[in-house]
Amino acid sequence: MACDRVAGMAASMRIYQIAVPAPLYRAFDYLAPVSLAPGARVRVPFGRRDLVGVVVGEVTKSELPASRLKRITQPLDDNAILPPSMLSLLQWAADYYHHPLGEVIHTALPVRLRQGHAPVASGVKIWSLTPAGKAVNPQTLKRAPAQKQVFEALAAEADGLEAERLVQVSRRSAAALKALRAKGWVSSHQREARPAISGDLQTAPQLNPDQKPAVAGILAGLGGFRPFLLHGVTGSGKTEVYLKVIEQVLAQGRQALVLVPEIGLTPQLVNRFARRFRAPIALLHSGLNEQERLNAWVMASAGRAPIVLGTRSAVFSPLMNPGLIVVDEEHDASYKQQDGFRYSARDVAVMRAAREKIPIILGSATPSLESLKNARQGAYTLIELPERTGSAVMPAVRLLDMRRLKPSEGLSFPLREALADRLKKSEQSILFLNRRGFSPVWMCYDCGWVAPCQRCDAQFTLHQKKQKLLCHHCGAEQQVIRRCPSCQGENLHALGEGTERVEEALQKFFPQARIERIDRDSTARRGALEEKLRRVHEGEADILVGTQMLSKGHDFPNVTLVGILNADQGLYGIDFRSSERLFQLIMQVSGRAGRADKPGEVLIQTWHPEHPLFTALARHDFHGFAGYALRERREAGYPPYCHLALLRAESPTPGAAIEFLASARTLAVRLSPAKDVQILSPLPAPMERRAGRYRAQMLVQFPHRAPLHDFLGQWVTQLAEAKFAKKTRWSLDVDPLDMY
Ligand code: ADP
Ligand code: ZN
Ligand code: ZN
Repeated sequence: MACDRVAGMAASMRIYQIAVPAPLYRAFDYLAPVSLAPGARVRVPFGRRDLVGVVVGEVTKSELPASRLKRITQPLDDNAILPPSMLSLLQWAADYYHHPLGEVIHTALPVRLRQGHAPVASGVKIWSLTPAGKAVNPQTLKRAPAQKQVFEALAAEADGLEAERLVQVSRRSAAALKALRAKGWVSSHQREARPAISGDLQTAPQLNPDQKPAVAGILAGLGGFRPFLLHGVTGSGKTEVYLKVIEQVLAQGRQALVLVPEIGLTPQLVNRFARRFRAPIALLHSGLNEQERLNAWVMASAGRAPIVLGTRSAVFSPLMNPGLIVVDEEHDASYKQQDGFRYSARDVAVMRAAREKIPIILGSATPSLESLKNARQGAYTLIELPERTGSAVMPAVRLLDMRRLKPSEGLSFPLREALADRLKKSEQSILFLNRRGFSPVWMCYDCGWVAPCQRCDAQFTLHQKKQKLLCHHCGAEQQVIRRCPSCQGENLHALGEGTERVEEALQKFFPQARIERIDRDSTARRGALEEKLRRVHEGEADILVGTQMLSKGHDFPNVTLVGILNADQGLYGIDFRSSERLFQLIMQVSGRAGRADKPGEVLIQTWHPEHPLFTALARHDFHGFAGYALRERREAGYPPYCHLALLRAESPTPGAAIEFLASARTLAVRLSPAKDVQILSPLPAPMERRAGRYRAQMLVQFPHRAPLHDFLGQWVTQLAEAKFAKKTRWSLDVDPLDMY
């Protein structure tokens, strides 16, 4: 290689800073005999290993003596695979979340690139007619039926067809193609994979009087950084607003990045984009294999996909010509990564839009209080879509006072009546229950013993179909206990309801009804969810019972009743965000009702019907709820009125995590942070033992961001090096979403 020739010429060596995937808060200097672009990958020796790192800068002089500098093993890219704007975004994220840059960059890259593979997409083979073939009359092939079938299929598709599709045309398509190619009538080429589209291209509807100014307002912001908070009730046409704006972005030759919480749950949304635009869409989500992920990444970064649609980590896909970012359901907790590099894709997206100087739309029917506060203070432009489109109206919400209504198997009488009514009218119903399994408690009625998970401070959930006791916290599984280990009695019973039990109860109450259960258990098999959703859409199901999987983005036009079973769960949760979550969840689930021409009804079973959260829900009064919740947060000094960071620790040894936090606290105090930085006392986590590890946490609170981050930066670097920190697993969570 050319490098060998210059190896001896130390003077021509250049020194580069390389970020490597290691839990270390700095980049490393390496020598390179060739010129390297920032954002390009290199292989470097690191300890005894060879790692793939990314060039983040060049220096003229290293702090290390020249004799100790190592040489890179091999450059991997001629050009940067991360443009300067992305490098600077990742650097910002590393600083803000106090996570090692090398690991941040690593998270942002598809696995194949982390492994050192070249950034090239693999294609699919597409067959089409040659110009000579187009001049041929298919009748000349009537003696070779397979060839004729294949030929006619290709003649009908101007864009050509994948070999796989042709197998469906004729079982002998491979031989037929070979023969046709020998005649010079067909040829093949490689094309990037595209998501399958079902249905024809769709034209855009006329915008309604609320959507028009919304679209115009956002379009006026194209070409510069402007954050918009699009608050529109479910079914108000938010997606239509995105589509209209994206149309203009594409017309300008730019790309749109659209983030959604979970693609697997909303195949309809993908299809809606695909049917609107005759343009390749790069899809990025967890259901892809590594090559598919790389394909989508390459299409996005090379500018070949005008639309990039993906979940959380798609926020890091480089774009050739960025024009717009959309974050749909911006309040959704899945935008926050809950381990390792704990970033919020929504917040990173806003920073990214600022760097790329493009507008960003944060859309939701129930915006997060953080975004709402930003809008109220003028940092974001608030756009409202207060009504449903067309003739659809918001569903009527009725609170069922459970203090007076005796439920049977979790279902109150008015709810059962409402279900019966929908069955009679051949309309669909949804029952929402945020708990999977049969029952959350397996208990001895003689002595009160409940089956505990051995590894967690939690109870086992009974799963009747599987005939197992399962821990929902650590995944532990065991046979159902039939004899009480405490009193030897055999009087064991299931206490409380999960989705499985409600499904069973429904079968008993309504033997003729077709019931679909939608939760993590019933949809574990690949394709099971799609199949269930298809049955719902085609009217082959009467009642859907499920967990929050049901709440996201689905559009079920024939659903006219939504029942919320355990609404109170979360009303008095330990987390200061529980009521916000509960409100969002019920609003989202309720949003599934009555989206078409039939009005919907929402029945909420609660023991606290006078709670302001429920009264606001009953009036569809998001702002009423938000005003009340924001006041509560301000008084308690919680976000968005302060900034939080949570230091978490865990250890298999009881007490070790708390001890670690106490030492970390001493270290913090010694750094003498600004006066308003409050470092609270270490506390055991609300569920202290989980999967056999004892967990503790310590909260750091501060009214302003900048001094908090100065302090956190120093603290984390010292912690990373402190001796006492070596034995305990710990992590820092900036802007934590879950407080346990
Ligand atoms: P959201 O994203 O707020 O839930 P959607 O954009 O999905 O709302 O719109 C709800 C329904 O109304 C969809 O079926 C959509 O096709 C339809 N829709 C939206 N805007 C219009 C419009 N201007 N004219 C007619 N139908 C519309
Ligand atoms: Zn007992
Ligand atoms: Zn457990």
